[in-house]
Amino acid sequence: MAYTVPELGFAHDALEPHIDKATMEIHHGKHHAAYVAKLNGALEGVDVGDKSIEALLSDLSVVPGDKKQAVINNGGGHANHSLFWRILAPGGANEPSGDVLDGINAACGSVDAFKEAFEAAGMTQFGSGWAWLVVDGGKLAVAKTANQDSPIMDGKCPILGCDVWEHAYYLNYQNRRPDYLKAFWSVVNWDVVAANLAASK
Ligand code: MN
Repeated sequence: MAYTVPELGFAHDALEPHIDKATMEIHHGKHHAAYVAKLNGALEGVDVGDKSIEALLSDLSVVPGDKKQAVINNGGGHANHSLFWRILAPGGANEPSGDVLDGINAACGSVDAFKEAFEAAGMTQFGSGWAWLVVDGGKLAVAKTANQDSPIMDGKCPILGCDVWEHAYYLNYQNRRPDYLKAFWSVVNWDVVAANLAASK
């Protein structure tokens, strides 16, 4: 099967001023599309059945050895961005509550401490990568990955992620990755994060 870029659930300019229209157009329409095209290219002639990209990343055994890294890079890029678009919302939505809040408090002590730890993960990811809130062994944890590596490959379930590749913020924030990470909280859809946690169980 061929993987496809999911539709955005909002207009390209809907996240302004936190994430600008031009960044969204290029990021969703060009970068994500390129990951999907390269993923499909790498999988030409490989039978992956109807596996979701998440299922494929959690078990790469059906992928021939010479194509694994391309699938990790581009399949990871597809999965990571698909999650990213879903957890964004114009104006954000609510604050952590219920099981998400309980899990954040258990992991970090408070929502503020969690946000600090998440921003630190994004800041200390040298070069390109992602900051994450993951479910790891039934517990929430802050994590980071390099490049397009997905936490799924480590047996973790990402429920919130922030893209810290320069392409995600450079047009609007240039070298100010910390400002981008702080602005990110204004457009997080915590209802989707809660749904992601529920679905991970
Ligand atoms: Mn990206």
